[in-house]
Amino acid sequence: MHRFSYILLLILLCSAGCHGIKPPRNTRYIEREIQTTGYCKCGKCCNWKRNWLFRPIFTSGPNKGQRKIVGMTASGAMVKPGTIAADTSVYPFGTIMYIDGYGYGRVEDRGGAIKGQHIDLYFKSHKQALIWGRKNKTVKIWIVSK
Ligand SMILES: [Zn+2]
Repeated sequence: MHRFSYILLLILLCSAGCHGIKPPRNTRYIEREIQTTGYCKCGKCCNWKRNWLFRPIFTSGPNKGQRKIVGMTASGAMVKPGTIAADTSVYPFGTIMYIDGYGYGRVEDRGGAIKGQHIDLYFKSHKQALIWGRKNKTVKIWIVSK
């Protein structure tokens, strides 16, 4: 019984935003003031549309007009809650971050408008992304490149 409630507690804590991501041990974090915005995998958030064959294509950037796999990040991983888009010249793929109100996330994506101290946080729906909106946060950052 005790073990069961302990597991239940862990599940409850996790649903509050660990996204299955943990900070690395023996690595100190840094804190930065970062502008955060929300995004989802829709065409509006990720600059794609359907062509005349109903296939998704990029609407901007270096791959404009080419086929797009909806939900695939710039790192090749599929997008999921906890996926963060960042300027990878500042925060490389694999960087782990903790954002108050969002939880833990990992940099696995990039975005045309995501430069410097600005990150995009993935949400399952466009509505949730809009609800997050734009927030300035003190973000804990563990730089661990893959
Ligand atoms: Zn969207």
